[in-house]
Amino acid sequence: MTEKYLVDPDLKFIKTIKQNGGDSLKKCFQCATCSVACPLSSDKQPFPRKEMIAASWGLKDHLLGNPDIWQCHNCGDCSALCPRGAKPGDVMAAIRHISILRYARPAIFERLWNDPRMLPLLFILPALVILAVGFATGLLNLQNDGGPIVYAHFFPVALIEIIYIPLTLLVGLVFFAGIRDLLADMQANYLWRGLDNGKPIKPVEFLKALITTLPTIITHNKLASCGENQQRKFSHMLVSFSFVNLAMVAGIFVFALYVLGSHGPYSQLNPVKIFANLSGIALILGSLLLIKNRLKSTDAHNSYFDWYILALALGLGVTGMLTQFIRLADWPMAAVSMYFIHLVLTFNLIACLPYTKMAHLVYRTVALAYVAYVDGRSQTSEVGT
Ligand code: SF4
Ligand code: SF4
Repeated sequence: MTEKYLVDPDLKFIKTIKQNGGDSLKKCFQCATCSVACPLSSDKQPFPRKEMIAASWGLKDHLLGNPDIWQCHNCGDCSALCPRGAKPGDVMAAIRHISILRYARPAIFERLWNDPRMLPLLFILPALVILAVGFATGLLNLQNDGGPIVYAHFFPVALIEIIYIPLTLLVGLVFFAGIRDLLADMQANYLWRGLDNGKPIKPVEFLKALITTLPTIITHNKLASCGENQQRKFSHMLVSFSFVNLAMVAGIFVFALYVLGSHGPYSQLNPVKIFANLSGIALILGSLLLIKNRLKSTDAHNSYFDWYILALALGLGVTGMLTQFIRLADWPMAAVSMYFIHLVLTFNLIACLPYTKMAHLVYRTVALAYVAYVDGRSQTSEVGT
């Protein structure tokens, strides 16, 4: 006998999807052209047609725990070919946006990064934290002693560590809780679809699946299969790699300070410094290309959620490079001010990770790993039978 399923539409959820760029969802007449056109959709679990109907029915729980929404890379191929002018790519992006906010805790912080009226606070709060901790600990020194500009004289490494290490740990905790909830939601979704057996996830097997997924994510292979917006792969890679490179450079300089006893400023010919400068240029170039692409695209929904992160990436690249140029030009007050702005933006970047589009890096990776894990497990059980 066919199992009965009672549809209980969540009208508020439909409205939220529309507000976040999925306003075309009601145009869909379920022809499935999008699922055929999507270069990333699999034969076994095609998307985004089923997500379009689930969205128009307001099936919130079946969408937010659906790993397929994370398999979509918003290339726009489906939207370009939809005969009804619906934009499934934008609907998928809107569902991902709502998903990110679902896993972001505490919910009050989510408003900070998703409401344009809160924008001034995003600069005022980190500035106040840096100044308050700096003055309270006595580590902040705004006096110029007349010698060559050394940023560590004004903002000692100890001050940076006191602020940024706890911040990073807090962000890690938010992601830990978010990943745990996402995995539970995806398991419930796959269980409902008959794709998961409901047994607890085995950490070692999951880790193996994660490792097999990483090369695809790092090389942006999925983006390469897109027809529309092909150039996004290059700009996306520039921005992602430059962030990773700059984080590595920071780690190398910390190692040099504490283990080798060597502190900056370093020569412009230092290989790590050259690497950092090239990464800074790549960050600016990649952000500009992404901004150009977004301005040009008629398919992609343009929201504050998207623009904020692009502007932040560009701001970090520009202030990072200016910090160095102004120091070399020997303008102490301008240099210290620019470095302070750069510190505020860096604080902002770390703090915003779970609450903005940046979170997709984590949740997409986990979702793709979960799909690989379930695939691997079903293959093993097939082999075993
Ligand atoms: S979104 Fe467009 S292409 Fe996809 S099923 Fe609906 S009408 Fe067809
Ligand atoms: S936007 Fe691209 S990846 Fe996403 S569903 Fe459409 S065709 Fe597939």
